[in-house]
Amino acid sequence: MRFFTEKSIETLKSQFFDLIDTESGVFHYQDVIKTMLHTIQKILELEEVTIYISQAWKNQVSIRLSTNANKIQIGQSSLSNEWIGLVKTVDFSPTDIRFKDYQVLIPLCKSEEVLGVLCLKGNQSYINPSNQDWFEQFAIVCTSFVQKAQELYKIVMEEKRYKQLFRVNEKFHSTMDMEAVLGEIIYTLQEEYPSFTYYLMLSHDNDNHSELPIKDLEYDSENIAAMEAYLTGTIQMEDSLTERRSVLYAPLKGKQGVYGVLQVIAPDTLTFPSNEVEFIKLLANTAGSALENAQLYQQSKRLIADLQLINETSHRLNSNLRLTETMSYMTEQIVQSFDAEEVCFVLVSPDLKPISVLAGSTPFFETDDSMVYVYYVVERLKKEKDSIFMGDVEIKLDKDMKRYRSIMAVPMVQSGLIKGLALVMHREPYHFSFETFKLLQSLIHHSTLAFTNSMLREELEKMVVTDHLTKLYSRNYLDTQVHESLVEDQQGTFLLIDIDNFKCVNDKFGHQVGDEILIQVAEIIKSNIRDSDIGARWGGEELAVYLPRIPLDAGISIANRLVDKVRELSKPSITISCGVSYWNVDNPDNFTNLFKRADTALYVAKDTGKDRVVVQEKLPSL
Ligand code: GH3
Ligand code: MG
Ligand code: MG
Repeated sequence: MRFFTEKSIETLKSQFFDLIDTESGVFHYQDVIKTMLHTIQKILELEEVTIYISQAWKNQVSIRLSTNANKIQIGQSSLSNEWIGLVKTVDFSPTDIRFKDYQVLIPLCKSEEVLGVLCLKGNQSYINPSNQDWFEQFAIVCTSFVQKAQELYKIVMEEKRYKQLFRVNEKFHSTMDMEAVLGEIIYTLQEEYPSFTYYLMLSHDNDNHSELPIKDLEYDSENIAAMEAYLTGTIQMEDSLTERRSVLYAPLKGKQGVYGVLQVIAPDTLTFPSNEVEFIKLLANTAGSALENAQLYQQSKRLIADLQLINETSHRLNSNLRLTETMSYMTEQIVQSFDAEEVCFVLVSPDLKPISVLAGSTPFFETDDSMVYVYYVVERLKKEKDSIFMGDVEIKLDKDMKRYRSIMAVPMVQSGLIKGLALVMHREPYHFSFETFKLLQSLIHHSTLAFTNSMLREELEKMVVTDHLTKLYSRNYLDTQVHESLVEDQQGTFLLIDIDNFKCVNDKFGHQVGDEILIQVAEIIKSNIRDSDIGARWGGEELAVYLPRIPLDAGISIANRLVDKVRELSKPSITISCGVSYWNVDNPDNFTNLFKRADTALYVAKDTGKDRVVVQEKLPSL
């Protein structure tokens, strides 16, 4: 036969060689093998040439390529070792029905490994033992061609892998955007293994990445392999024969830890070849590093923000703010930085009882409802002597009361003593993170000194400006305030008050009662003037009130009210007399004159029957 010659082998060889000429374009493994089949078909004038080749991915499964495209593939089982070294013709009846139709079966074997089986169908005259030698040689040529094609394919694939890895790494190094890097990794995997499914199983969720296939990595019995990969940092495989799928779990490893697991689900049960596993591992590690970077970046950003907050706050606190301003500033900082709804500062007594809620706390703490929370945390603080961090507080509340479920409370400790506490609340349960709690602790810790200083300073200042018996302002303080008002304001009214017949009171009831009367009168004055008015002890049983910016008629009504109230309320009942003077920008005055005129008026009041108000309206001619 003309085919079975040395020359036809040479022709085949040279034609095969031409097929591997990659310069003409991209190398496609299966296309090259198909062309090879057509070449054989043409040269040997065959009806059909079919090849079953083992796949790297599927140890047990072979793929079929054929010159007859319509033929359905029957079975996909592995190529057994019975093929090694033998060229079969039909006198050998194969057990595998796939090979039933063919006259010649040529195994392509590389030492112990079966690369594939070439099946020829055509002229019966091939069935001739004299052609056996030729077929043996033909087998060698085909084997070497398939082997070369496979090697070439591997090189081409590896080059592609390098490019993919390079692209992923380039992304990794060019952006701090973790999502972009993870996206690139998923894209690469999809490009490489389009039929597989991928999930990034992350250990603690990273907000919403709507674009990425992210699952929570939770410890449950169904995910033992995933957990194993996460905990040991090694790749895990899981085959499910019932679900007909294989799953690979690759840990997302960074330099400092494992941040999650990449789950690769193959739709068939199959064995992942080692080079594929290596590729997936490299991608998973890049993902791990990206997650790590993002976390470190977030962490450092948070740390910087925390330090800035602490630094700024201590700075502000040390800059001689008033206590109320200090507290307002702190409250504002905490509301903003911690996304808190309510913030308050509570002073406590040495035996840990709440004394007062400091001004500057959020308005909720001006309501009675807030006291439930204040008492609750103070009680707990008494027991635990430590900060409180609660995600879902259950407190008995009346029906309409606002419920706050997230609570943090940090004691303000100065020289080993608890001076007070900061209370921070939010309606949502588990609203504050543990990191926020830590930051609050450190913020309070750093500001307690400034806070107690500011409290002490204010106490001291109050002592200096307050008369200790009546708790009215001191004469000195009144003087400075009137001086300031004369410069800054448009007008003001001055009242000078003297208790009538006080000597008799002292004589009749004793000095002790006299003092009490003095206190009573002071209380009546305090509760009948505003915070911006200045009630002071002028000296002895003489008291004074300066009303900055208050016109004369309003000042007279206040004076009359005081005279009336004292007559009504004092016990034993006494009366007072009051002299009034007034100034405005059209009739400017100095302090000495303002006082003198009030004193003159007071003298008139005493002289005309006491228990009354007398106004010194006209300015004395200068
Ligand atoms: P008049 O109605 O004219 O004011 O009569 P008066 O008795 O009140 O006279 P005057 O205002 O001069 O009284 C001063 C007396 O007030 C002297 C003193 O006994 C008494 N007094 C002054 N300071 C105090 C004080 O701090 N406590 C007590 N208990 N008495 C005081
Ligand atoms: Mg007097
Ligand atoms: Mg008097």
